[in-house]
Amino acid sequence: MNNDILKVLYSKEEIEAACQRLGKDISKTYAGKTPVVVGVLKGAIFFMTDIVRAVDTYMQIDFIDVSSYHGATQSSGTVELLQDINTDISGRDVLIVEDIVDTGQTLKFLLDTFANRGASSIKVCTLLDKPAGRTVKVSSDFIGFKVPNEFVVGYGLDYDERYRNLPYIGVLKPEIYANN
Ligand code: 5GP
Ligand code: MG
Ligand code: MG
Repeated sequence: MNNDILKVLYSKEEIEAACQRLGKDISKTYAGKTPVVVGVLKGAIFFMTDIVRAVDTYMQIDFIDVSSYHGATQSSGTVELLQDINTDISGRDVLIVEDIVDTGQTLKFLLDTFANRGASSIKVCTLLDKPAGRTVKVSSDFIGFKVPNEFVVGYGLDYDERYRNLPYIGVLKPEIYANN
């Protein structure tokens, strides 16, 4: 699996440091509150578990599964709700934890969905932000790294459901896509 990687963008240590930095920011923002932290499956699983343990406030956690990618490296443009949260977020402070914001369509869908349910505040923490990919105007409150316009894998992010378990974030060799 490691042989398929062209270059490492962010090492395990750099990701850990980013989680600690974001955890401190999030702790300050929610001091005295009990936010509902919603991790977006499956890409944000490792980030979610690392980030919530770096935050020192009371919180509830939940997960939502949405899909827009269908195994390709380009977004399909439609967002589908695959599995909903089971927390009532009406009147609650919601923090969405995402792996990456690319076109922004997934995030827009989540923001609209949670706003419609009457959340009293909605903020976004994303591990990666890819501003060059944006087609919808959305922004994040807490950002791990700004990435160039390349398709990245690892630390939760997949290519065709593989590479999620890489402990770092990297770019695949071009022949991996060519062989598919
Ligand atoms: P968006 O809706 O912002 O275009 O994309 C959101 C989802 O697309 C992300 O949560 C992620 O699952 C997937 N995605 C976008 N860019 C990348 C990328 O560079 N690598 C991987 N593995 N997934 C990506
Ligand atoms: Mg995602
Ligand atoms: Mg994916």
